[in-house]
Amino acid sequence: MIKKPRVRFAPSPTGELHVGNARTALFNWMFARHSGGKFILRIEDTDESRSALSYQINLYEDLKWLGLNWDEGPHKQSERLDIYKEHLQKLIEKDLVYPCYCTEEELEDERQALILSKRMPRYMGKCKNLTADERKQRENEGRSPSFRFKVHPQVIEFEDLIRGAMKFEGEAIGDFIIVRSNGMPAYNFAVVIDDHLMAITNVIRGEDHLSNTALQMMLYRAFGFEPPVFAHHSLIFGKDRAKLSKRHGSVSVGEFRKQGILPEALMNYLGLLGSSFTEGREILSREEMIKDFSLERSSKSGAIFDEEKLHWLNAIYIRNCKTEDLVARLKPFLEQAGYKTDAINTKWLNEVIELIKTELTTLAEVGSHIDIFFDDKYKMTTEAKEILEKDSARQVVKTFAEYLKTSDDTPQKLYPAAIKDVKEKTNAKGKELFMPIRAALTGKVHGPELDKVFAILGKDATLKRLKYFTA
Ligand code: GLU
Repeated sequence: MIKKPRVRFAPSPTGELHVGNARTALFNWMFARHSGGKFILRIEDTDESRSALSYQINLYEDLKWLGLNWDEGPHKQSERLDIYKEHLQKLIEKDLVYPCYCTEEELEDERQALILSKRMPRYMGKCKNLTADERKQRENEGRSPSFRFKVHPQVIEFEDLIRGAMKFEGEAIGDFIIVRSNGMPAYNFAVVIDDHLMAITNVIRGEDHLSNTALQMMLYRAFGFEPPVFAHHSLIFGKDRAKLSKRHGSVSVGEFRKQGILPEALMNYLGLLGSSFTEGREILSREEMIKDFSLERSSKSGAIFDEEKLHWLNAIYIRNCKTEDLVARLKPFLEQAGYKTDAINTKWLNEVIELIKTELTTLAEVGSHIDIFFDDKYKMTTEAKEILEKDSARQVVKTFAEYLKTSDDTPQKLYPAAIKDVKEKTNAKGKELFMPIRAALTGKVHGPELDKVFAILGKDATLKRLKYFTA
């Protein structure tokens, strides 16, 4: 029987969820869903000084928001310390580790000396051959040891699903710490034990972990565990080809969420980075992404994060979103922009959103598009004022307003009739005709189709706005 894949996302809760990590999660999730396997969430929170519960909570929210539902977990490493202790014991029994009493300063001095003599900085094994007495002496000085793994000269080779054959020389690697002096497991140690015990079949992560994989392979050998299949995907870069960071603008899932990027759009965009889909496909639903995803197809070279493209995709997703659904998603953003959504008629709001949704690139922009429909938010922009400074423009508006007063037709009939009348009386056409009406009606020079704006505003509200021109 072929084993169903088991993959994991293993973030360290030391900050906001970065889009790079979200993409790693997405790749794992798509891999699991594509193959009918399991997606496991593991929290790597053994670095107590940098981990925070608030980051963990954010992380769950961000993953749920993105729709990256996990099948198992969250498993927390901080709750598995006994397991790591047992495994340390196993390696001690096999004489594969030794306690190291070096202080931070001693290690740093050694590093500097190696760099000065143009040698590879690594641990040279100072504590490797300490006698029992020497160990005791250091312990009596109050030093608590870390534990180092004995690296034997060996060549580490593995086949990476994305990068092909990988080879590392063990010689360049010094004996590395697997358990810190505070008793906490180091990343490479805990990750191997967990991936083994959680029966992970495929480890999909960023290529920044490639050198760690060499160390992890040594630990797999030491324990006699079968290693998983590795796939190291490329990283995300800014337009300047530097690793994507705050310098480049928004980089966390939370920031994009606050901007009003839709989760589907962000997922789609992150999936496009690294081209793991059939060439030429750009807009894919979740189901299509899962179906089309291929790790092997994923590019080895780094992907450039292009926020404009994300916004372009987001606009498409907004446009394609069912209006009622969109309204629900927009409500928090409307509240934030000072609109009391409870007090707004739902049917009316749906109509308004239906009209302006093609203009939105993000949800957070809604306030500055919907304002034209609220008298207390309506105000003249400088551009609109300029248009209305011309006598001919004011004449157009005046004629329009006066026609409105003459008829009680529905807005749908009234608007074209009024426009026709203005055309005949003033000879204005095209921009000369519509711009002044738009400027007076909305206070702006851009916006949705005027007849529809009028239909929503209605005759009375319009006349109130145009009063100034008819006086
Ligand atoms: N906690 C590690 C990280 O966030 C996990 C790396 C891995 O997937 O093994 O980078």
